[in-house]
Amino acid sequence: MNNSIDKVREDFPTLSTKVNAKPLIYFDNGATSQKPSVVIDAVSNYYRFSNSNVHRGVHYLSQKATEQYEQSRDLLKDFLGAETREQIVFTKGTTDAINLVANSWAEKHIQKGDEILITTMEHHSNIVPWQMICEKKQAVLVVADVNQVGEIVMDDFKAKVGSKTKLISVSHVSNTLGTVNPVNQIIEFAKKRNIPVFVDAAQSIPHMPVDVKDLDCDFLAFSGHKLFGPTGIGVLYAKMKWLNEMSPYQGGGDMIKEVTFKKTTYNEPPLKFEAGTPNIAGAIGLAAAVKYVNKLGFPFIEQQESRLLQYATKELLKIDGLRLIGSSENKAAVISFLIGDIHPFDVGTLLDQLGIAIRTGHHCTQPLMDHYKIPGTARATFSFYNTIEEIDEFVNALKKAKKMLS
Ligand code: PMP
Repeated sequence: MNNSIDKVREDFPTLSTKVNAKPLIYFDNGATSQKPSVVIDAVSNYYRFSNSNVHRGVHYLSQKATEQYEQSRDLLKDFLGAETREQIVFTKGTTDAINLVANSWAEKHIQKGDEILITTMEHHSNIVPWQMICEKKQAVLVVADVNQVGEIVMDDFKAKVGSKTKLISVSHVSNTLGTVNPVNQIIEFAKKRNIPVFVDAAQSIPHMPVDVKDLDCDFLAFSGHKLFGPTGIGVLYAKMKWLNEMSPYQGGGDMIKEVTFKKTTYNEPPLKFEAGTPNIAGAIGLAAAVKYVNKLGFPFIEQQESRLLQYATKELLKIDGLRLIGSSENKAAVISFLIGDIHPFDVGTLLDQLGIAIRTGHHCTQPLMDHYKIPGTARATFSFYNTIEEIDEFVNALKKAKKMLS
C-alpha cells in the first residue's frame, strides 16, 4: 500500500514542495486539491497545440479545440451517470452553478411567500444566492437544524417541508463537518411531494462516486478544482425538463440561435447557458482529472481516505482538550477541531511554520459557527495522496502547538 501511495504522490508535483525547509504536508484539500501532472500537461498541451476558440471556426485548430471541449462534456456525462451530454453545463464552479439556477430556475419558479429549504451546515455558496432570490421575490429561506454531532435533524427537516416548499438545496458532504448527508433519503422524500432538489456536490465529488441517475436529483453542481482539475471550471447537471424551460442566465455569444435588434432566439441546452468564450483549457484539464480519478478508482480512494480519517480521528482524540466539530458516523475525510481555548488561527500559523497546511476560520459556513457558538475551527482535509506518516507529524505538531499556546 505504502509503495503505491509513494508512486501516486509522484504524480503531484506540488507535493514535493518544501516549506520552511520542511516537506509540505498538504491537509487543505477541502479548499482545493493538488493537480496531477496529467492535468497540468493537458492544460499546457491545449495552449501549445490546440489553442483556438470553440464552436465558431471552420478551421483546423478551432475544430480541434471544439472536439476536445465537447469530448470533455461526454466524459463528464459518463462520470456523473447523466443520461445525455446536454445535461452537462460547464460553469466557473459550484458557486457559479448555484447562481445560475437561482437566477434562472428560481427566478421563474419562486413566487412571493414560497419557501426554499436549506440546512444550517450549508456553505455560503448554498445560502447567499438563495437568500438573494428570496429577498427579490419576497420568498422565505427556511433552514433545517443540525445536531451536536453535525448531522441534519431529519425530523426537523421533514417538518419544515410543506406546501410552500418549492426547492430543497443541500450539500452532499459538509465542507466543515465532513458529514455525508442522506441525500438519497432527502430526494426520495422530496420526490413524493414533487419538490426539486439541488445537490451541492462540491465536497463529495473528490471522495466518492456520485451518480445523478442513482440520486435522481434535479440539479447537482461541483467544482473542478476540488477534483484535481483546474480552477475556474465546474459542472452544473440538471434534468432536461428544467434545462429546456429555464431562461438563459447570461446573454452573449454562443448562447444564441439568431440575433436581430428586434428579437433574439436562444441556443439549445447546454450552450444556452454557456454565454461567451468558455474556459476551454479548464474543461480539457477537468477531463484529464476525471480520467486520472477513473484510473485510480474510487475503491482505492475511499479505502485510503477512510484509513486516514480513522487513524487521524483516533490520534487527535488522544490530545487533551481537543474537541471535534463534526463527529457523525458517516463522514468524509474532513476533520474540524478546536484545542481548549486556543484560537484556530494561532494553531494554523504555528503548523505552517512546520510545513503543515491546514485551514482555519469559518470555512464559509458562518451560520454553522454561530450555531455552535464558536469563532471558527482548525480543519484538516485529507486526500488519497496523504499518508499515515504525515498524520503522525501533524499530531506531533499539534501537541507542540498546544504546549506553546496554552
Ligand atoms: N459548496 C461547498 C460544500 C464547498 O465546500 C465549496 C467550496 N469550499 C463551495 C460550495 C463553493 O465552491 P467554489 O468556491 O469552487 O465555487
